[in-house]
Amino acid sequence: LKTIKELVVLSGKGGTGKTSVTASLACFLKPSVLADCDVDAANLSMLYSVQEKRREDFFGGNEAQINSEKCSACGLCAELCRFDAIEEKGGVYSVMEGRCEGCKLCVVKCPEEAIDWKPAHNGVWMVSKDKGINIFHAELNGGAENSGKLATKVRGEAFQYAEQLVSRGEGNSDLLLIDGPPGIGCPVIASLTGATAALIVTEPTPSGFHDLKRILELAAHFRIPSMILINKADLNSAIVDEIYGFAKGKAEVVGEIPYSELFHKAQKACSPIPELAPESVETELLRDISKKISKTLDAISAKKRGGER
Ligand code: SF4
Ligand code: SF4
Repeated sequence: LKTIKELVVLSGKGGTGKTSVTASLACFLKPSVLADCDVDAANLSMLYSVQEKRREDFFGGNEAQINSEKCSACGLCAELCRFDAIEEKGGVYSVMEGRCEGCKLCVVKCPEEAIDWKPAHNGVWMVSKDKGINIFHAELNGGAENSGKLATKVRGEAFQYAEQLVSRGEGNSDLLLIDGPPGIGCPVIASLTGATAALIVTEPTPSGFHDLKRILELAAHFRIPSMILINKADLNSAIVDEIYGFAKGKAEVVGEIPYSELFHKAQKACSPIPELAPESVETELLRDISKKISKTLDAISAKKRGGER
């Protein structure tokens, strides 16, 4: 039986305030573990005064490496490589850093068997700590293509850790809060599949509404219950009404937050909104929204447990 509740926070694109919302909700939901699966632009940890506790290399795939001692400089590999990843300098052939796409063609075709198939170092993942919250985050090397795999790694490690805490009776709660990547690509699917629920942060603009529909479809495909938070809700009341209409029967709208400069200020101050402005209207709204999310998560888990019995 799954003991950890996983709430993944998503948005169709960057700039909706997703990460600020995640960090702010964490102030009330009090997860023991936070995972930043937005590995292409990891910035959740910047909203905390983190202390790094652990750092691990991430090898997401394989890449070619020419062994110069065996190479006869025939040039076939450079000819064959469709990604122009192999260069020749002064008669010496080598694979350019970060350019190999891992198709393995040169490895198979090299007449001298001079090309090794090595694990590719795609980035690092870290565990940092701030005030009792364990934050799992990562950095993908520039040009590396494995953000889906790295997001899976971060989420998997965070989940295992959260489970360990619960089984030892430690930590604040059984919640793993995940800051998901933007868009609807591979990293989003990696963060979403099998989660307890998704919280979609949207804004009432035509493109925001369009993105919301696409994520709701994706979540429905994977049978993940969704909740919606409308940020910058005062931008366009007509679209807000449309969102409520569209969400009916599909997802619960857990609340609205009007456009607020506090989002930028909180980011600049590296602090979640409830810590920066504890008496603000925004903090009050976020507190109410957290309560609704908590209730819904409990209901989903209870229903699941009922179904599994
Ligand atoms: S195909 Fe093999 S032998 Fe020829 S240049 Fe490339 S690595 Fe060297
Ligand atoms: S494995 Fe493919 S992409 Fe990488 S260097 Fe060889 S041919 Fe190019």
